[in-house]
Amino acid sequence: MAADAEVIVVGLGVGGEFVAGRLAEAGLGVVGIESALVGGECPYWGCVPSKMIIRAANTLAEARRVGKLAGYASVQPDWSIAARRIREEATDDWDDTVAVQRFTRKGGRFVRGRAAVTGSRTVVAGGREFRASRGLVLATGTQPAVPPVDGLAGTPYWTNHGALEAMEAPASLTVAGGGAVGVELAQAFARFGTAVTIVEAADRLLPGEEPEAGELIGEVFRREGIRVLTRARLRRVSHDGRYFTVHLDGAGPVHSERLLVATGRRADLTALGVAAAGIDDTGPFIAVDDHLRAADGVWSVGDVTGAGAFTHVAMYQARIAARDILGQAHEPASYRALPRVTFTDPEVGAVGLTEAQARGTDVSVRTAVSPIPSSSRGWIHGPGNDGFIKLIADTDAGTLIGATSAGPAGGEVLGALAVAVHARVPVAMLSQMIYAYPTFHRAIEDAITQLSLRRPDRITTRAVALPAKIVERGENCAGFCAGAVVRVDFDPADHPVGADGRIRRHRRQAGNLLHQPAARRGRLVADRLFITQPALTAPPATSGAAEIAR
Ligand SMILES: Cc1cc2nc3c(=O)[nH]c(=O)nc-3n(C[C@H](O)[C@H](O)[C@H](O)COP(=O)(O)OP(=O)(O)OC[C@H]3O[C@@H](n4cnc5c(N)ncnc54)[C@H](O)[C@@H]3O)c2cc1C
Repeated sequence: MAADAEVIVVGLGVGGEFVAGRLAEAGLGVVGIESALVGGECPYWGCVPSKMIIRAANTLAEARRVGKLAGYASVQPDWSIAARRIREEATDDWDDTVAVQRFTRKGGRFVRGRAAVTGSRTVVAGGREFRASRGLVLATGTQPAVPPVDGLAGTPYWTNHGALEAMEAPASLTVAGGGAVGVELAQAFARFGTAVTIVEAADRLLPGEEPEAGELIGEVFRREGIRVLTRARLRRVSHDGRYFTVHLDGAGPVHSERLLVATGRRADLTALGVAAAGIDDTGPFIAVDDHLRAADGVWSVGDVTGAGAFTHVAMYQARIAARDILGQAHEPASYRALPRVTFTDPEVGAVGLTEAQARGTDVSVRTAVSPIPSSSRGWIHGPGNDGFIKLIADTDAGTLIGATSAGPAGGEVLGALAVAVHARVPVAMLSQMIYAYPTFHRAIEDAITQLSLRRPDRITTRAVALPAKIVERGENCAGFCAGAVVRVDFDPADHPVGADGRIRRHRRQAGNLLHQPAARRGRLVADRLFITQPALTAPPATSGAAEIAR
């Protein structure tokens, strides 16, 4: 039987559409099969509409900050404006005519239907079999993972589709799931006036990211009036025709007009029939090698591979798979410097490993945290300045292997850190970079300084090696410290209560050691003392010496 195409692509979301279009442009015969809308989740129910809602919600939040910065503003939220923008500007009212043409104009043949794999070169869709001479590409993405909670199945709960198709904001909303989708939509609805409760089974929001990130978002949410229930698990759900009641293990019942289930995503490999192509269908995702090959003559890209549920991962993999299918030279896939951004306010950007992940390897790890509110720009920014930079360094290699940038424009600040992790830029080189003042990204320098100074052998200026030094608790830094510009680091875990009896927050002080009253008395209560600049003049032998003690 003659082949219908050289390559069949199943699923034309961001990943599949890219591969199919690129192969068609290269002159291959391509059949692209899509059961819903060409473009997939991202433009219709994911990244694009959610970011439109978030943009609108953040405008409301900024307007509410006017009182603290610039006068008086009265805010009357109207969800329908953002909803119309989604319909008219982003989704063509969930019509993919333009996207289908985008593919067929490149020479591809489009088939609407749900495909099932029947062999390593064959699929069925719409009641007929399609045969490929060169191979298959499986790019079927994921769907919401709805937990098997008693009573949930029969209720009109929302997934991301319902939430982003809504024409008005509900009076109240329970969000099940404190991952990226849950927190983004929870904050957006709350800023439109919805009374939001967010329920997360783990001990903090954003459980996949640094603990500091989840704690920060939890704190900001509570301040904004969002009810945050962590260590709470859905036990039973009921709906009385108007309201949901969500019964929880770990907290009392929650009542709300709407329930958004954002408890993760899953791929249905059995329904897709991947076993017929020799692919293991018992795991959660299709396993691929670093050329995106899943089996002989079968490639797979995007969320369904489990490499990271992000549009940029799907696009990255699609580029590699297309080159592999076309027999073009390419670098193997690497996710070492995978960036991700949660678009809350503050944004949480992260790249590479978290501290916990890094400590689970045999790498020698060192970390540094620099708070945004006490950076120059953070202080100037005022309301809405929450955030931090956290760096994870491999001390043997002298490079960053992970970083988190939380704060205003945290996702943009991440760009610099992604370059550093991706290109393995030495920390010593980052410490000599000029960071524009007063930017949010300048807080990176602060964190780099902490890392650098713990590696004095790596720090040099143009002429001389800085006598950089870190003085640990119990050590007497004697004349070395006097006159130097220092930073004093208090760890709230070690000093939970200050002299005033109040709970201490993590804080740092910068200044000239001679001007620190405690230092003048000869004792400085701190965990670490970072010498960020040597004394400009030779210090007197012992005066102003500081002992770092509890
Ligand atoms: C609310 C939300 C917000 C998000 N925000 C971001 C963000 O800000 N940044 C980011 O990077 N990522 C974001 N994502 C994730 C992003 O949408 C996905 O990573 C991306 O869409 C994955 O692309 P994909 O091609 O792998 O899959 P998809 O986009 O899911 O496309 C897969 C396509 O395959 C089709 N299909 C499935 N099975 C079959 C079959 N058997 N036959 C035919 N067709 C089939 C589906 O209909 C679908 O169109 C968000 C996701 C959600 C839900």
